Amino acid sequence: MAFRGKNAVVTGGAGGIGLQVAKQLLVAGAGKVAIIDIQDNLEEFVKLRAAHPTQSVMIIKMDVANKKGVEATYEEIKKTFGNIDIVVNVAGIFNDKDVQRTLLVNLGGIINSSLSALQYMSKENGGNGGLVLNMSSVVGLDPMFIIPVYGATKAGIINFTRCLGNEKFYQRSGIKFATVCPGATMTDMFTNFTEKIIFPETSDETYKILDRLSKQSATDVARCMLNVLEKEKNGAVYVIEGKRIIPLEMKPLWTGKEPAL
Ligand code: NAD
Ligand code: MG
Repeated sequence: MAFRGKNAVVTGGAGGIGLQVAKQLLVAGAGKVAIIDIQDNLEEFVKLRAAHPTQSVMIIKMDVANKKGVEATYEEIKKTFGNIDIVVNVAGIFNDKDVQRTLLVNLGGIINSSLSALQYMSKENGGNGGLVLNMSSVVGLDPMFIIPVYGATKAGIINFTRCLGNEKFYQRSGIKFATVCPGATMTDMFTNFTEKIIFPETSDETYKILDRLSKQSATDVARCMLNVLEKEKNGAVYVIEGKRIIPLEMKPLWTGKEPAL
């Protein structure tokens, strides 16, 4: 996929990995970029607009857990942009102590935004089709015992996105769905980390694990995500580690499964 002139939506684009994705899409020539985030980041948004005066940067303050709000946001973006080509769902939190909120934001948010993308981008509804990239994590693949709630949402995202990445959906909608699973990345997500885990007895272990992890930068991860977008591979899942993308071979494990993916 060439990015020049394309219109994109990035959730969680006010900070961390999402902001870098929005920045890099603009640098790559995207025509219009909408950032959906629950937070403001006025300083960065002013800088973004100043750096790309001939491109549009639309900022919408919205909670991705709010299904109706997300639908209304897509309607607004579609009206303003004319059409949407790319959606990158990055918004997410780490707080295993707040189970409800973690489920609603991480898994619910991805589901809300993906289903709205389907509605507003589908060829069946007058859209051009396009590409949706959803943010999971390596801990959605390999269980990390210290963060089971977060891990469960990330595992759910992989399954949900692979379902929508079915060829049958693609034939109707013209939309491809892919998932990325980055390893540890230096962002605000690690702030007060040990206060947000559910088993305090694992906190020493948690510190050790966090120290040991080789952490990549948000910029590196965003670059890899643009790489994944360029591949346009429907249903694909990639690990992002050490500044590179590693495609995963997802083998069917039960015989009842139809061979569509
Ligand atoms: P971050 O906290 O820097 O960025 C998350 C962004 O999402 C923030 O701008 C935040 O305001 C926004 N957000 C949070 N809740 C929201 C909501 N309800 N509605 C809308 N926006 C919301 O963290 P990050 O590390 O950049 O994380 C981005 C994504 O990458 C998350 O989904 C995270 O799970 C995932 N991830 C992070 C790492 C890592 O090590 N940092 C590794 C793998 C995956
Ligand atoms: Mg982010």
